[in-house]
Amino acid sequence: MQQSNAAATAFYDHAGGGGSFNNAGPAGGDAGDAVMARWLQSAGLQHLASPLTSTGIDQRLLPNLLMQVRKRPLNKKEISRKEDDIVTVDENALMVHEPKLKVDLTAYVEKHEFCFDAVLDEHVTNDEVYRVTVEPIIPIIFQRTKATCFAYGQTVHGSVVLLLISSSRNMFFISGSGKTFTMQPLPLRAAQDLIRFLHQPVYHSQRFKLWLSYFEIYGGKLFDLLSDRKKLCMREDGRQQVCIVGLQEFEVLDVQVVKEYIERGNAARSTGSTGANEESSRSHAILQLAIKKHPEIKESKRNNDGNESKSGKVVGKISFIDLAGSERGADTTDNDRQTRIEGAEINKSLLALKECIRALDNDQIHIPFRGSKLTEVLRDSFVGNSRTVMISCISPNAGSCEHTLNTLRYADRVKSLSKSGNPKK
Ligand code: ADP
Ligand code: MG
Repeated sequence: MQQSNAAATAFYDHAGGGGSFNNAGPAGGDAGDAVMARWLQSAGLQHLASPLTSTGIDQRLLPNLLMQVRKRPLNKKEISRKEDDIVTVDENALMVHEPKLKVDLTAYVEKHEFCFDAVLDEHVTNDEVYRVTVEPIIPIIFQRTKATCFAYGQTVHGSVVLLLISSSRNMFFISGSGKTFTMQPLPLRAAQDLIRFLHQPVYHSQRFKLWLSYFEIYGGKLFDLLSDRKKLCMREDGRQQVCIVGLQEFEVLDVQVVKEYIERGNAARSTGSTGANEESSRSHAILQLAIKKHPEIKESKRNNDGNESKSGKVVGKISFIDLAGSERGADTTDNDRQTRIEGAEINKSLLALKECIRALDNDQIHIPFRGSKLTEVLRDSFVGNSRTVMISCISPNAGSCEHTLNTLRYADRVKSLSKSGNPKK
């Protein structure tokens, strides 16, 4: 391994080797190291290439907002249809080569260039995604940070798209961009690292514990995925703390249990009559891992609302959000009334999310979290010490070009209008 890679690896060595996922390649590959070294450089953090400890990190050094893009590989169907890969990646920039036709039907390619904090190409494994997105945040969860990690992108299943290339008409079925594939393993790895930290005497002696909850927002309503999809309601207490009444939280002591809860919650997402993908593409799934300070026996009898439940006071937390398919926000003209309502709700929440992230990154006092149920629920993650990571997932195939451009434009708007953004556009 080269010197720079070794340094970048040492920077995150506090988490140890870590496990691997079913679908991940070998941990700590060169691609991830290169991405991380570039990311550290672009964030001005190259000087931090020294081992991290739980107490040694200065959280102000980590950027408030990290915008990353992940490109998935062409899938078997796309390859068998001989679809072109129209996305090229060059360090933290990417180019979309959009196939177009002139009025006289001659084909040409229009190029669109975008820059982000990091661009993860099709060779980057889930393990490497974890190392460049969530792992740096883990230590500061113990320093009263609320972090949110979003996966954004299209989730089109079974839609037929007409694409005109050279005067021939091709019909394509386009599929998801990799949100769930990207998001699923992250909480498991995060829990593994959080539990490792909890075993350190400094946290053990403070009675810090890890709690997990998993719910979804569907059509503007909340459902507990770990409690038979019980409908939940949200209220604010006198101190404007958001409280999701009745949400089940579970203390977790080992990763195997976390895995079981995630699987149980995922199964609960797919009970809709129209099938798993169809339903889950219209919901935002929110998995939260909270570090709480376990109360003394006499304190636990007090049982306050919100931040201070009988499980203890929240020290910090990290939320993983598998967002509804971005294209679902356009379902507002669908023939089915229910689909239209859901589409409008998704549209509203994705717009509100954009506004909140921007306001947050610009240190605005007023964060417009009331714009949607999603942002209201995340309110406590938008105030105080907060960190946001958005991973915009894109498909590489020509048939997804329009969705890919929409996703990149959304991400670009969030980034370029924020303080830490690149004001090149
Ligand atoms: P979404 O949640 O955005 O609808 P999925 O995560 O379900 O999309 O991904 C669609 C398909 O592509 C799945 O079969 C998934 O396994 C596959 N996939 C997505 N991203 C990758 C990747 N980076 N490498 C390999 N396969 C991927
Ligand atoms: Mg999905």
